[in-house]
Amino acid sequence: MTTSIKSEYDIIVIGSGLAGMTAANVLARSKHRVLLLEKHYKLGGLATWFHRSGGHVFDISLHGFPVGMIKSCRRYWNAKIADRIVVLPRIKFDNPQFSITTTFNRDDFTRLLVSRFQIPEDRVREFFDCARGMSHLDNAAMTAKELFDRFFPGRGDVVRLLMEPITYANGSTLEDPALTYGIVFSNFMSKGVYTFQGGTDLFVRLMREELTTNGVDIAVNAGVQKINVGNGCVHSVVLNEREIRTKAVLSNANLKGTIFSLVGKEHFSGDFIDEAESVRLNNSSTQVYIAIKPGKTLDEEVCGDLLFSSTAPAFRTDLLLSRNITSRTYSFYYPRTRPGTDRYYVVASTNANYDDWAGLSKTEYEQSKRDLIDDTLNALQKYVPNIREIAEYTEAATPVTFEHYTGHWGGASFGTKFEGLAVSRKLSQQIAGLYHAGSVGIIMSGWLGAVNYGVIVANDVDAWMLGNS
Ligand SMILES: Cc1cc2nc3c(=O)[nH]c(=O)nc-3n(C[C@H](O)[C@H](O)[C@H](O)COP(=O)(O)OP(=O)(O)OC[C@H]3O[C@@H](n4cnc5c(N)ncnc54)[C@H](O)[C@@H]3O)c2cc1C
Repeated sequence: MTTSIKSEYDIIVIGSGLAGMTAANVLARSKHRVLLLEKHYKLGGLATWFHRSGGHVFDISLHGFPVGMIKSCRRYWNAKIADRIVVLPRIKFDNPQFSITTTFNRDDFTRLLVSRFQIPEDRVREFFDCARGMSHLDNAAMTAKELFDRFFPGRGDVVRLLMEPITYANGSTLEDPALTYGIVFSNFMSKGVYTFQGGTDLFVRLMREELTTNGVDIAVNAGVQKINVGNGCVHSVVLNEREIRTKAVLSNANLKGTIFSLVGKEHFSGDFIDEAESVRLNNSSTQVYIAIKPGKTLDEEVCGDLLFSSTAPAFRTDLLLSRNITSRTYSFYYPRTRPGTDRYYVVASTNANYDDWAGLSKTEYEQSKRDLIDDTLNALQKYVPNIREIAEYTEAATPVTFEHYTGHWGGASFGTKFEGLAVSRKLSQQIAGLYHAGSVGIIMSGWLGAVNYGVIVANDVDAWMLGNS
């Protein structure tokens, strides 16, 4: 699986998340000599999956992304990947304020907001146009809360409909910039929620094939210990005590980990380090994976594809993160997710705080995971009454699990908050040849955000390489 590593490359990409792999692919297509190093034993980063006995395969982050993924995959990967991206037709909400099924696009949300929530059609149109037209110039300071207060004052139910899925999708809150909410929300609203048919394992396998075809050298089980810098330039990375020379490094590892662990703060200016230290990490997640016994099924009409379920009386970000779980997002996987199989799965996800899990003793941690599974099965009975009879296998992941597999500080599911983007973009001004691409902020995280950010940074590296050749 691992190619033999040469002593020198044009570019070394550290980390094979979607941003890292996409950047590697774009740079290899531009005929640069690229090495992709991944510390885990498989590629994909958080775009990953795992197998369990009984033939079960669980997807971790394949719950949904905007339609833009088709265009990005066709352009920066290939048609084989893009052609497998399909819409998820049934998105459901169930909470004390409303229970609805929607195709999660502008037409259907307009219908719901007007007929169900009694909002005048003009107001709905103005809101959508405002969200879609947001730009850095005129909306930089407004928060998502201020945006909602402007269009739907006093309407907590409407805010919940508009915000809850986006909070789930990237950990954003009402206090985050409205601009970032507007972009992500509008991306989803253009055509709904999409998935990859065939599962994450096939998605990443097709990417790996493309990388290999384009000449990228790939090594897994290859955790980089150090990025070496001298005279203000990157010159090599250290992998298992071996030094590999390079003109540029593109790190897909956690932004803070890249600056403080892989490079070292002594190589940056004081102002830059102050700014980097103030970057907040995004929240983490818990997940419960449930495999249904072969031969047993789930009711698509009742469950839908994605179900945002909550028992909280109103939408509050702190409640979404609390250990005392009131909100769960269920992804229901039917045989059509992986054509050729007859298996059904449920993955229940919640946003979570790392600190609630990291400080536990081993015994407390294991017990908390069992409680999480048990509570999830109880909650799921509302939609799948016989879940305890038909569940064949269950397992839980916590913020500690995500930290373990990706090295993300705090097990962050979506990298850093919005301010991380500016720091990520400034790296190459601090150290020539040093770049970062990966989840920073709301726009640059999630499957589509990570792919697109990988492209943007690959283009920066390409331009810099041309200027320095
Ligand atoms: C539970 C969960 C559910 C999610 N659901 C969705 C969803 O439904 N839709 C969606 O769009 N997004 C979802 N996401 C988010 C999405 O998966 C991520 O934003 C995206 O995959 C991140 O890509 P990335 O390029 O930032 O890198 P990451 O996936 O974070 O990968 C970084 C890689 O770098 C590697 N690495 C780190 N340090 C080193 C080192 N020193 N040497 C070598 N390698 C290193 C890591 O091992 C990892 O493979 C979800 C995330 C989580 C956690």
